[in-house]
Amino acid sequence: MKILIADDSKTTRALLVESLKKLGHEVLVATNGQEAIDIFQSQHPDLLILDVIMEGIDGFECAKRIRSLENDVWIPIIFLSGAVDDENIAKGINAGGDDYLTKPYSEITLFAKIKAMQRISDMRSKLYEMTKKLSTLSSTDVLTGIYNRLQFDKSLKEKMAHADRYNQTMALLFLDLDNFKTINDTLGHYVGDLLLQEVAKRLDTCLRIDDFLSRIGGDEFAIILTEVKNRNAVIDVAQKIIKILSEPYNLSGNNIQITASIGIAIYPSSDTTQKNLVQNSDIAMYYAKESGGNRYQFYTEELSNKHDQQVHLENELKYAMERHELCLTYQPIYNLQTRDVVGMEALLSWKHPELGLIPPATFIPLAEEIGLIDYIGKWVLRAACEQAAKWYLSGYKNFKLSVNLSPRQLLQKNLPQQIADMIKDTKLPAKILELELTETSPLIYSTLSEVVLKEINEIGIKISLDDFGTGYSSLTHLKRLPISAIKIDKSFIHDVTTDPNNMTIVKSMISLSTDLGFNVIAEGIETETQLQFLIENKCPLGQGFYLSKPLSTEQMTQLLEQGKISSTMAE
Ligand code: C2E
Ligand code: MG
Ligand code: MG
Repeated sequence: MKILIADDSKTTRALLVESLKKLGHEVLVATNGQEAIDIFQSQHPDLLILDVIMEGIDGFECAKRIRSLENDVWIPIIFLSGAVDDENIAKGINAGGDDYLTKPYSEITLFAKIKAMQRISDMRSKLYEMTKKLSTLSSTDVLTGIYNRLQFDKSLKEKMAHADRYNQTMALLFLDLDNFKTINDTLGHYVGDLLLQEVAKRLDTCLRIDDFLSRIGGDEFAIILTEVKNRNAVIDVAQKIIKILSEPYNLSGNNIQITASIGIAIYPSSDTTQKNLVQNSDIAMYYAKESGGNRYQFYTEELSNKHDQQVHLENELKYAMERHELCLTYQPIYNLQTRDVVGMEALLSWKHPELGLIPPATFIPLAEEIGLIDYIGKWVLRAACEQAAKWYLSGYKNFKLSVNLSPRQLLQKNLPQQIADMIKDTKLPAKILELELTETSPLIYSTLSEVVLKEINEIGIKISLDDFGTGYSSLTHLKRLPISAIKIDKSFIHDVTTDPNNMTIVKSMISLSTDLGFNVIAEGIETETQLQFLIENKCPLGQGFYLSKPLSTEQMTQLLEQGKISSTMAE
C-alpha cells in the first residue's frame, strides 16, 4: 500500500516510516497539514495517517479538506493522537476519519489497523467497480453495445436543456429498418441480430463524437445530432446513413440487403416538449416508410394532421366489422377465348359512414400494421366461402372463387386447419376455392410459407401468385411453391399495346408460365385492343373493367343466372 503520514514530530515520523517499511508499504511523508494535502493530490496514496495536533492546518481540518477533494474514491484515514477522549473521537469521525491510533502504539496494533483499513478499502473499490459496470449495463443495449432507450431518454433531456442554454439547434433522427420483420421471419433471429449489430456499427461511422446513437426498440434507432448548423447539415447525415445502410451485408453466409426510413424532428421548434419531439420524429419516420421507405422525412405540421386522420382511421377500422361496414364485391374472371365466366375474385371494401368507400389499398396495409389482418382475413374468407357455397348449391358447379390472402396471414398458427374448417363449415368443395398471394412480399418465399402453402394445397385448394412481375418474381422460387396460376399485374397490361417492352414481357410471361405448367390470368384489361392482344397471344384467362367491374353479390348472381357460366366448362 502507498501510505501517507503527516506528523510534525520528527521522531514519530521516523518511527512510523520504519514500522511501515518493515511491513512492506511504500511511505510518503508530510511534515504539516498543507504538505499532506499537496502530496495527497499529486501522489494519490491508498491510506492516510494524520497526526491530530499539527501547526497550521491540524489533522481534523486536513482530513476535512481531503474528503472534500475526493470524488469517487474513498481513502481510509487513521488519526494519530496522544490523548483520546470521547469528544476527540467524535471530532475525528465528523472530520471524516475512520480510526484512531493512540501514542504510544505497538507495531502489532499499527499492523492490525492498517490491515483492517485495507480490507475495507478493497471491498469499497470492488463495490465501486461493480456500480460502474452496472451503470454502464443499464445504459447500454446488450445486443449492439450502443446506448439503450433508458439512456436515450436521459440524454435527450440533457441535450435539450443544453441546446436551450446555449441557444443551439439539434436534430432528432428516428430510424427504422424497412421490412426487418421479414428478415427475422425468413432467416431467423440469429441473422436478424447480426444485422442489427452491423447496422449499429455502420451508423456509428456516420456520426461525430458528440452525436448520440442508441437502439430504442427492435429495429429502431434514435440519433441525436447536436449543434446543428442548418437543415443541409442534417440532410447530409441522413443521406449518408441511408446510403451506407443500403449497401449489401454478408451475414453468416447470407447476402442481405436492407433499407431504412428516417424521420427527423428539429429542436427547438414551436413549443416542443421532449415527448412531442420524439413523437414528431416518429410521425415523420412513419411517412418516410409509407412513401416507400429508403428515405428521410422532416416532420411538418401537415404530417401531424395527416397522422391524426390515420389514427382516427385505425380506430374506426377496429369497429368496422362490428358495424358491418366491410363488404365484398366480386369481379368476374373470364375465359378469354370463349368469354365464359370461369370464376370471380372477391374484393374487399369498406363502406365508411362519413368517409365513403375506402379502397382496400388504403386500409389493408393499416390492418396488417395494427394486427387486424388475421381477423379481417378470416371474415373475408368466411363471407366469400359462404356466398360461393350458395352459388354452388344453386347449381353452378364449375367455377373458381379467388380470395386474396395477405402474406402476413401465413404467419398465423394453424392457417391450413382454419381454412379446412372454414370450407367444411360452409360446405364449399375445396376445388372451388383459390387463394391469391401477392408476390410483392418476400415473406411468401420463406421456408415457413412454403410449408404452410403446401399444407393448404394438400387440402385441395389452389394457390395463385398475384401482381406477378411487380415483386420478387423468381422462377426458381416459383418452382418451389405449390402455385397453380400467375396473375399478370395490371401495370403490364395497361400499356401492353403501346409499349414494345411490355408487349415482349407479357408475351414471354404467358408462354413461359404456360410452358412451366401454370395457368395465366391477365389483370386490368381495360380496352378491346388489350383484350385482342391477349387472345392472340393465347392468354387463357383475364379480368378487367372492360370485361366487368367488380359486382355486388346480387349483380354477380344475375350474371351467373344469365348462363354465361355453365356446367359445360372445363374444370
Ligand atoms: P388485386 O388482388 O390485384 O385485385 C385487383 C384490383 O384491380 C382490384 O382493386 C380491382 O378493382 C382492380 N381492377 C380490376 N380490373 C381493373 C382494371 O381494368 N383497371 C384497373 N385500373 N384496376 C382494375 P381493389 O379492389 O382496389 O383491390 C386492390 C388490392 O387490394 C387487391 O389487388 C388486393 O391485393 C387487395 N385486396 C382486395 N381485397 C382483399 C382482401 O380481401 N384481402 C387482402 N389481403 N387483400 C385484398
Ligand atoms: Mg388479387
Ligand atoms: Mg393483382
